[in-house]
Amino acid sequence: MKAEERREIWESLGVIEDWLSGGARRPAGPEPDFVAAEAAAEAADAGAPRLAPPRPGDSLEAIAAEIEACRACRLCEQRKRAVPGQGPAAPLAIVVGEGPGAEEDAQGLPFVGPAGKLLDKMLASIALDRASNCFIANVVKCRPPQNRDPAPDEQAACLGYLRRQISLLRPMAILCVGRIAAQALLGGSEGVGKLRGKWREFEGLPLLVTYHPSALLRDDSYKRPAWEDLKLFRERLSPDA
Ligand code: SF4
Repeated sequence: MKAEERREIWESLGVIEDWLSGGARRPAGPEPDFVAAEAAAEAADAGAPRLAPPRPGDSLEAIAAEIEACRACRLCEQRKRAVPGQGPAAPLAIVVGEGPGAEEDAQGLPFVGPAGKLLDKMLASIALDRASNCFIANVVKCRPPQNRDPAPDEQAACLGYLRRQISLLRPMAILCVGRIAAQALLGGSEGVGKLRGKWREFEGLPLLVTYHPSALLRDDSYKRPAWEDLKLFRERLSPDA
């Protein structure tokens, strides 16, 4: 992304932030060094390992069909519908959550309950949506009973589907929402508070962690750091890719 493009995004995000805060346009804060950011991004791109290539002949439809027939873990036993994921075949970004809830289980679509509606608004604020430029998926594709955390063996059984989706979609960046998704892709045991706010990497792809929208619905104090994460995420994406 060119320095001038970064500057335009920065300025437009400032307007959105002020609007979300409910106030008038505030004086602008110090502007980042966009030229340095461009150089750093190019250097990071040059040194990053490559994402594994997709399997020959693989497709989103083939992965979805396998998921819908999958009985590789106990989560298949109580599912109404598996939830492979939703979005375009050439997205700018992938959002990864932990697993389907009740609404998602009923509809076979990811993030369609109250948290999903908030996620759609969060994505819209940075010019992303599941219809045109953002794929939405989960670590496990079937609903854990009573919305419990997916167990490590369930995550391990299912993660291959997400890896295949990421290899096919080859997004510019991944946004992990919540602790389970972050730990599944990054490893380790740190929570969102420690992982967020800084670019990380999944198989050579830039990955950012932020709070799950359900956490924002429970606690307003997560909104400001989540917004900061979204701005960082948008800045990494090229506006005309
Ligand atoms: S959660 Fe994943 S691994 Fe388990 S049954 Fe569903 S699709 Fe298969």
